[in-house]
Amino acid sequence: MSVASPAAVAAVAELLRDRTWVALSGAGMSTDSGIPDYRGPTSVRATPMQYSEFVGSIDAQRRYWARSYQGWRRIGHAQPNAGHHALADLEAARLSGVITQNVDGLHSAAGSRRVINLHGDIATVVCLECGDRSARSELQRRLGWANPQVDELQRLDHAELRPDGDAVARDWQQFRLVGCLQCGGRLKPDVVFFGEAVPKDRVEAAYAFLAAAEVLVVLGSSLTVMSGFRFIRHQAKTQQPIVIINRGPTRGDDLASLKIDNGCSETLAELRATLLDAPVDKLRAHPRE
Ligand SMILES: [Zn+2]
Repeated sequence: MSVASPAAVAAVAELLRDRTWVALSGAGMSTDSGIPDYRGPTSVRATPMQYSEFVGSIDAQRRYWARSYQGWRRIGHAQPNAGHHALADLEAARLSGVITQNVDGLHSAAGSRRVINLHGDIATVVCLECGDRSARSELQRRLGWANPQVDELQRLDHAELRPDGDAVARDWQQFRLVGCLQCGGRLKPDVVFFGEAVPKDRVEAAYAFLAAAEVLVVLGSSLTVMSGFRFIRHQAKTQQPIVIINRGPTRGDDLASLKIDNGCSETLAELRATLLDAPVDKLRAHPRE
């Protein structure tokens, strides 16, 4: 694990010290929680399922839920890492909100209070017919009853699991789906798939966060997808400062005022120590839910 130069962290702290700021986080934020980043520098390439493929094919749904059923154990039990905890503490240092591209719920689990889950929430399931929302954990139990032949506890290799909860499963053709408890309709994870638009009210809420802050800090995102990159472009257009903390190059590097090429956990812990004027080990982690 590398450490960002103290001068680079000090420069970011100086920029943030007397300004309100908002964070935009991506997959790199959660890699230290064991959730792989399939666009990161060390990741394997994977083709995520498209929205049209999912809604248009019962076989695609079968494949998705078979994979998700086996991958849930890792995603569903992931815990916030040092970066999530540091960011929650930084609300005391003029951090006004977090916009996240992650669907793992770890910002809220760490205690961040103002979070926009741009791409939804993997812990929730939505019915494609009636719109009813229910808990993913409940669906996991129902899928288990419907598929006693599938070993839920099979340990999936890191490379086989994707951050949207999708994973590689064998024998998915035999997997039995279950429907909505209200209407029997088809179920979809309440996450934005590739090829699916982010709901308008969420986008507007995210722009309202930006408008109320002075600095935008990107955390662990290569800004590959437009749903996140548009906020960088917007911020650049208003000539407000952009800070990027990410391991490896990003699509927004040319627009950044400051860039730290390092991991989120260690950099945020250092920022917390600097901005809150407290040694890292003196700060108590937020209690877990
Ligand atoms: Zn329904």
